[in-house]
Amino acid sequence: MRKTRMPESVCPYCRKTLNGAASLDLASPSSGDLTVCFGCARFLQFDKNLMLAKVEESEIDQIKQKEPELYAELERFKLAIQQKNEGGDRNG
Ligand SMILES: [Zn+2]
Repeated sequence: MRKTRMPESVCPYCRKTLNGAASLDLASPSSGDLTVCFGCARFLQFDKNLMLAKVEESEIDQIKQKEPELYAELERFKLAIQQKNEGGDRNG
């Protein structure tokens, strides 16, 4: 049994430090996988060092076309984060 560890990475948009694989059903994130920032609820992509990078709109469109189920899941994830962020107005 192996545990996946992701290096700590900073969101390129909001500078929130994210650690742990936040990516949905992906047991281990790999280069090119998408995830969503817990801080600002934007789409992010793992680069080749598994650091978080910005995602082009066009790339998101491609995912939408090629993997609609994955995209739907990401959207749900994103909405949940947005709701959490808007709902609980706590520090941090
Ligand atoms: Zn962010």
